[in-house]
Formats: sequence, structure tokens, C-alpha cells
Amino acid sequence: MPRFASVYPLVLTRELDRPFTYLGDGLERGTVVSVPFGRTQRRGVVAEVLDEAPAGIDPAPIGEVLGSVPPGLVDLALWLADYYGSTPARALGLVAPSERRPRASGVRVGSAAVEAAAGLVGEEPPAGLTEEQAAAVARIEAAFGSGASVLLSGVTGSGKTEVYLRACSTAISRGHGAIVLVPEIGLTPQAAARFRARFGDRVAVLHSGLGDAARRDERRRISSGAAPIVVGARSAVFAPVPRLGLICVDEEHDASFKHEADPRYDARTVAAKRAALEGAVAVFGSATPRPESWHALEHVRLGTRVGAPLPRVRLVDLRREAGYPLSSPLLARLGQIADAGGKAVLLVNRRGVAPAIHCRSCGATSRCRSCDVTLVLHTDGRLHCHHCGYEEPLAATCPVCNSAELARLGAGAQHVERELAAALPELPILRLDADAAAQPGRRGEVLAGFAHAERAVLVGTQMVAKGHHFEGVALSAVIDAGTELWAPDFRAEERTFQLVTQLAGRSGREREGEVIVQTFDPDARPVRLAARHAVGEFVRSELARRRELSYPPFARLVRLQVSGPVAGPPLSALSELRAALLDAGGVEAALGPAALIRLRNRHRAHILLKTQDVRRVATAVRRLLAAASPALRRDGLTASVDIDPQTVS
Ligand code: ADP
Ligand code: ZN
Ligand code: ZN
Repeated sequence: MPRFASVYPLVLTRELDRPFTYLGDGLERGTVVSVPFGRTQRRGVVAEVLDEAPAGIDPAPIGEVLGSVPPGLVDLALWLADYYGSTPARALGLVAPSERRPRASGVRVGSAAVEAAAGLVGEEPPAGLTEEQAAAVARIEAAFGSGASVLLSGVTGSGKTEVYLRACSTAISRGHGAIVLVPEIGLTPQAAARFRARFGDRVAVLHSGLGDAARRDERRRISSGAAPIVVGARSAVFAPVPRLGLICVDEEHDASFKHEADPRYDARTVAAKRAALEGAVAVFGSATPRPESWHALEHVRLGTRVGAPLPRVRLVDLRREAGYPLSSPLLARLGQIADAGGKAVLLVNRRGVAPAIHCRSCGATSRCRSCDVTLVLHTDGRLHCHHCGYEEPLAATCPVCNSAELARLGAGAQHVERELAAALPELPILRLDADAAAQPGRRGEVLAGFAHAERAVLVGTQMVAKGHHFEGVALSAVIDAGTELWAPDFRAEERTFQLVTQLAGRSGREREGEVIVQTFDPDARPVRLAARHAVGEFVRSELARRRELSYPPFARLVRLQVSGPVAGPPLSALSELRAALLDAGGVEAALGPAALIRLRNRHRAHILLKTQDVRRVATAVRRLLAAASPALRRDGLTASVDIDPQTVS
């Protein structure tokens, strides 16, 4: 009988990255325990069971046993810590999240039990699959047990979700579990509803909005096998599913799969790794796949929509139009909807009323005091910083030169909403953006209101382009396509293409729909190709460009960021680190150091490393940072490493 265990106490400190030995019986790899650590009790995860303690150690006894995670998840977490340059304890915290005691007044969110209380019976699957769907399902089933990853590229409405549903059904009929990842917390209820309609209470839902009690219940139902299908956002990739057979990643192009805090993991990379470790199959589905996936993965295609054909896209050249943000072709089409009924979705890629206030006399632009960004005018008549939340009233005159000639630059969602109300007062307008979604329950209200409306326009930011499935949308429109192209990011083209294509996909799911794309740059490659639904052509041209410039997937990126209270030191610290990294080898190119915009009064800078050997470079970065950390801390500097960064600005 083993009597000792090697345990990682779940602490956040970066310096503590090794396990500690404790005394205890009946433990296994993956047992979650409480252990004495320093002067407190900590949760910890057993990494290994030992027959004897290392020499010279007098281990303390383990406290309570709190639960357990499958041993495979311990392997996954330790891999993740190494790959993303985090600590084992932080990574283990992802697979063994704390389960605090339920609050007395806790409201249970999304409880499956309640829905089973409603007598929900399974949704009937469509009588038959299309030929392409059947081939896709067959291919996925053939890969069961292999640990492989497959790209399912299919235009919006081609029946990808039906493919996931069938594959899940096969998985559970063979005694396996499945995880379905969707990009955003806001999309989880919609996706979960479709899976629950088919599989009833064998579906568990996990997302960050769940209360503690609901999360604990869902995790119990997953561990026990009662709910073999898990639907959730990013962190559901760590769900304790026993005998995992399948992971589906829906909308695999979505940037929200990357966690933008330590550990900076990418749920897509983790999904592929978990599938490989556990002999499952990972399916990555999208209408606009990432060039990385297109290049690396076996490719299964759904080329045609079920039902209506893809909508016609009309490009409106804003350089030739007087009306901004609403051109006359767009207003004319919206006028028809106001008269005859129907629904439209308008995408505006900025929040607020005006993204910037500019003085025509002296050229000054209103800026945040703590961040290098313009302040955005909102309908409350105040200027807001979208990074730090600072706000101030809009002055009647320029604070620099006192001129009254203040111009509002650009058009945010609130401005489009106002203009629309003035032009077509009889048309009901709903707005969905981060400002609206900040009010609890508001997002669901807006979506439900739009779903049930007979005639309405939904105005919103990216949120309206993402995955929502609205019935009866006759028109979708982009107010100003291509503004993202100004971003200094090699993925700007990809994002523009995805945004326009995804928005176009919201239209005409049942009947023939129409899409209007307003743009100042109708010749820009992503805009032009998105208007033709030319996904393959776009990805191939994008891959050719990336090959030439040596960007992913043809090189891997490691980003090193340093921030501090004044401008100079982050840049000089990075110069030193850069020189040391070039000496260490494995770096194909080092871009920067370059200053980034200041945020919340932190001056930031970064270097971007391109490499063919990401393990070697990541290891060198970690070693150098550990050595430099006392000096960095002394100067008030903070450093962070991002492996496979998704944003580089
Ligand atoms: P995607 O996920 O690719 O956007 P969905 O799976 O949501 O597409 O399918 C679009 C619509 O077509 C849904 O209403 C779905 O129920 C329907 N559908 C999917 N497959 C079939 C099929 N084989 N026969 C009939 N209807 C189908
Ligand atoms: Zn001025
Ligand atoms: Zn700010």
C-alpha cells in the first residue's frame, strides 16, 4: 500500500513550480486533496503516488480528500503548463477548479434537472443526411479512437451542427463521451438547447457564467457518466468526461478560444492535444476556417447550404455615396422591410456614438489620460474609454484651443441606431453590443425580441455576426467593412474576411436573402472575396502571403511583452532580452522591440519572435525571464510570454 504522494498545491506564485511530498493512503494520480502549505490549508492535486518519501524529508499528512479528476487531465495540465510557459499549479487549477460551498440564496442557472421537470423529449433528427453530411459523419466515425483532428469546413447553414449531433450520437452509442465547444458564453444557451433537444438531460452545460452550485452539479453529472455530452465555452475543454471519444470545436476561427491571461492557452490547441492523448477525435468546424487549420488538418467539406442558396452580396462603394452611415441603396432596402415586413441585421464594428471627437481648428483629438486611445462618445453625452472605463462629459468647446468646431469622427452602433430611427421611424430597432449586453439578461431579451418580431432591425457589433441562427432574416448588412484592415496585425485580413462572410451567413437561411456590404475599400482582397463567398480562394491567397512573410502556419510566434510605469525601461529590458534570445539560438527572426499603446497607465512594449522550433525558444524565454525577474521587479516592470499569440498589437 503506497503511503506517500507527490502533490501540487494550487498556488498562483510563479516561483513555486514543483510538487511537494505528503503522507497519505488511498490516493491516485488526479485525487484532489487539501494539504497543509505554509500556514494555511490549500487544495492540491496528486501527481504521483510514491512507495517511499525522498530521503531527508518528513512529509506532513494530507488533509481531506475533496474529489478527483481523471488522470488523463493531469497529463494534459502538465503538458499545458510546459507548452504555454505557465506553472503546473496554475494549469492544474484549470482541470480541478475550486468548488466553493453553495450560497444559501444561490440561484441555479441552466439546471438540466429543471428542464427534465418540463418533460422535454428528444428532438427528431432530420429524416436523412445530405450526401455530403453522410460522408462527413462517416469520415469522423472512421477516425474514432485515432487521436486525429479533422477540419469540417462548411458554409453557414450547410448542416455542420447536424454533423456534430450525429457524431455525438455515435460516440455515446459506443459508450464514449463528447465535448462540444462554442466560442462565447452568449452562444452557449442556443447551442445547448439544440443538443438538449436531441439528447435530453444527457447534456451538461459548462460556462463561466454558471453559479458555483450549478457548476458543481454539472461536473458531478459529467464525472459520473450521467451526462456524457458537454456543451460549453473555452474552459469546457477541461471537462472531466470519462472515456472521451469526441471533441467538436464549433466556429473554430473565433479568437475567444484563446485565453488572454496566464495560462495563455488556446482551447483549440488543447482540444487537439487532449484528443491525441486520450485517443479521441477532434473536429474543427467553421464556414471561415483559419489558414492554420486549412494547412495542417485533414479536410472534410460541406459545400452547399441545406435549403436556400447562399445570399447575393452587393458591394456599396462609400466613396461614391453621400449617405454615411446609411447609404441610399441600404436605406431603400430597409424601407421595403419597413413597408412589407421582414428582418434585417446590421453590423457596425464600433460601439458608442462616435469613435472619436476631433477639433477642426487645432487638430486635437480627445484621448484617455491613462491609455493611448481616443475617447468614444456615447448616447449619455459623455466620452468613454473602452479600455479602462474612464469617462468625462463632452465639452462644448475644444479643451485645447476653445474652438466650438468639434467634429464627430466615424459611426458607432448607437449612432447608426439613432440615424435609423430618424430615417425610418416605423421600423422597430434592437441594439446588441457590449453596452447593451452589460445589463444582466439584456442580451437574451434582445435576441428573443428579434426572434419573435415580424419586422425589425438588429443593430450591433461583432456579436450579431457570431453564430446566432435567426429565422427569416431577409437582409444583412455591414456598415463599414474594412476598418479592421488598419489594425497593425497580420491577421487583419483574415478577421475582415471572417466578419463579412459570417455576417453574410446570417441572411436568407430559409428563403433567398440579400447582403449589402458598405465599404470605402471595395478592392481590398478580403472584402472582394467575401462578397463572392470565395473561402477557398481567400485561404489559399492568405497562405501564399503568410508563406512569403513567414507567419503562421509557416513559422510559429512567441511574443514577449514588458510593461512598466514609464516609457523607456520596457523597451530597454526587451532589447537586452532580445540579444540574449538571439544568442540562445532557434530564433528565425525577432521583430521589435516596439512600443505598444499605453493602457491603464502602463507603458507597454513587445518583441515578436518567429521560429521553427517553438519549444526551444519558449524554454529559452522562460529561463531568461526567471533570471531577469528580480531586476524587472525592482524596476516595477511586468513581463509576460504568449505562445502562439492571437493578437500582436
Ligand atoms: P451550420 O451549423 O452549418 O450553420 P446547421 O446544422 O445549423 O448548419 O443547419 C442549418 C439548418 O438546416 C438547420 O435548421 C438544420 O436543422 C437544417 N438541416 C441540417 N441538416 C439537415 C438535413 N440533412 N435535412 C434537413 N434539414 C437539415
Ligand atoms: Zn482645438
Ligand atoms: Zn483609458
